[in-house]
Amino acid sequence: MVERRVRCYIGLGSNLGDSRANIEAALRHLAGAPEISMIAVAPFYRTAPVGYTDQAYFINTVAEINTSLSPRQLLQRLQAIENMLGRVRTVRWGPRTVDLDLLLYGSAVIDEPDLQVPHPRMHRRAFVMVPLADLHPDLVVAGEKASALARRLAREQEITRYAGA
Ligand code: ATP
Ligand code: CA
Ligand code: CA
Repeated sequence: MVERRVRCYIGLGSNLGDSRANIEAALRHLAGAPEISMIAVAPFYRTAPVGYTDQAYFINTVAEINTSLSPRQLLQRLQAIENMLGRVRTVRWGPRTVDLDLLLYGSAVIDEPDLQVPHPRMHRRAFVMVPLADLHPDLVVAGEKASALARRLAREQEITRYAGA
């Protein structure tokens, strides 16, 4: 039997501890899962916090994967990786060692209390759309091309290529 795999995009962010090492560790855990194949990882970006702004800058990127996991299984896997890397939930949108969001699961649309896909805020965030557009500029998100969204958001929100520690 041929195993069905779905193309997905995962948003990664960290602003506590060694942010770059946290993102790299999360990527290794993702790639190491037998049900996940890593297709590509976007460049890393340094971004100003949004929402709760009294906190350190973030490092963000987006990973493109294929997976045989269901959306819910994938969300559980992302949360297991967050927990493994020592995420402690404090204030909403507050500091975190690592945050993994399921951005897109193929063309699936899911609207459940604990899982919404496409991620409902992704199209308003430079830290998601800029790395996503690096990987897939022609992808249509919220009715607009990723590259166009990314260009506009990058003018409104602080985001620069991460040049190392
Ligand atoms: P935001 O969702 O605005 O980026 P956040 O990442 O800080 O905020 P979390 O505290 O990490 O929010 O997650 C809160 C809840 O969001 C999780 O418990 C999860 O059930 C739910 N959730 C819903 N849709 C998604 C999704 N697409 N990816 C990840 N979590 C999701
Ligand atoms: Ca998030
Ligand atoms: Ca999250």
